[in-house]
Parts: sequence; structure tokens; C-alpha cells
Amino acid sequence: MPVLFLGHGSPMNALETNEFTLNFQRLGKRIPLPKAILCISAHWETKGTFVTGMTNPKTIHDFSGFPQKLFDVEYPAPGSVEVASEAKNSVKKTVVGLDQQWGLDHGCWSVLTHLYPKANVPVVQLSLDYSRDAQYHYELAKELAVLRNKGVLIIGSGNIVHNLGMIDWRNQNNGYDWALEADNKVKELIQKNDHASLIHYEKLWKFMSLAVPSPEHYLPLLYCLALKQANEKVNIFNDKAVMGSLTMTSVSIGE
Ligand code: ZN
Repeated sequence: MPVLFLGHGSPMNALETNEFTLNFQRLGKRIPLPKAILCISAHWETKGTFVTGMTNPKTIHDFSGFPQKLFDVEYPAPGSVEVASEAKNSVKKTVVGLDQQWGLDHGCWSVLTHLYPKANVPVVQLSLDYSRDAQYHYELAKELAVLRNKGVLIIGSGNIVHNLGMIDWRNQNNGYDWALEADNKVKELIQKNDHASLIHYEKLWKFMSLAVPSPEHYLPLLYCLALKQANEKVNIFNDKAVMGSLTMTSVSIGE
């Protein structure tokens, strides 16, 4: 299966039809139907690493200040105890816990609702261990590669540039110069396969801390890059900035 990094942006994208969500819909139709999805979302951070192990994960509305209709969205995809166990067993770097509390957060369902609107593909989430550095995440991700051969679509959901504190609501369709520059630098390194520089992203540029003020939206990208085989093609899409300080840039690997 291919590997996808999807820029999710505002939770409202779950309800909207726009250039970004149309590309998600096309992607879902283009790639083979997966047996299951393993999603690494920016919105599930834990101490230690966990996979969701329930048969019917609940839809989590982990945001505030949005219209009621967004809280009414349900994404009733089943879980997969089998794929959760496979993910757990494939990781040797740490003991992955089986979680029974979480569910599907908006980082996951806001994109899947476009890729698989029927919610007919089982979904498992893998958490981000907030106590670990980027190198650790990259190495852990490599151990998940075996799942790709078993029909599991691995999706990282985050944003390359994500600075909520600097959001400019009046600037819907553009980005600050530093946001565009940071996104371009990251895209260049993805194309060059320079993962070492992307792991040490803080050192890329003096304004990188504006683009990535905290790691959780960036780390899902590293999970996806770690899963790239040497000969695989990379396709970058949705590479636009919105609201000043967010980029929607998404990557498909091995399509
Ligand atoms: Zn987010």
C-alpha cells in the first residue's frame, strides 16, 4: 500500500468541499481499497506509544468554538483488533500498549471522511509519545513497514507549518513569507530524500520555530517518510498556505 501524509488544517475541512478535500476524495478513489488504515494523528499524544484496540472506536470531537454541525459528525468506521495487534507486534523499539479509551480524533476523521466517506475501512490509531524526540519517532515508524505489505494504508495526519497563535482569519488563502519559505524548504528536502535534515528540522532555518512551534503536527510527516522505500515515487499535493500560518501540504508515497 502507499503511505500518505495529509495536511488536515481546520476541522471545518471535514464538512467543506474545497480544493484540498476534493484531492482527498480523488486520492481515496485512486488507490487500492485498503484492508485497514493505521493513522498517526497530531491530536493523540501520550506518554509511551499506544494503538487503539477497540472494535468500535468512538468519534472524538476534540476541539471547541466550532459550529454544532461539526460536533454532530460521526465517523462510524470499525476498529481492527487484528491490525492493532500486528502494529503492536511489529514494533520492537518499545512496548506498544493496547488502548481501549481513545477512538478516532478529528486529525483522523476529518480527512478519512473525504477519502472513505462510507467509513467502510477499519481504522486503528497510533499515538505519538510526547516524551521522545524526532529521531526516535522516525526509527519507530520504520518498524511499521511490514503492515504496508498486509494491505494496511498508513496515514500521517498533521501539518508541516502549523502555528495557531499566528493564525490570520482575514488571510484565508495565503501564507506569511516565513510560512511559505519553511514549507518550501521542507518540500525540497522531501524531494531530495534528505530525511536526516528533516529529522533535525529545528536547524533548517532561523525561523523554523515559527513554522513548527511544537512538534506534534510535524511528526506524522516523519512517520511517513520513514516508511518510504528507496525506489518509491513521492507526489506532493495541496501545497498551499491558508490563514497565514498553516500549510496544507500533503505527500503520497509509493502510489
Ligand atoms: Zn490539527
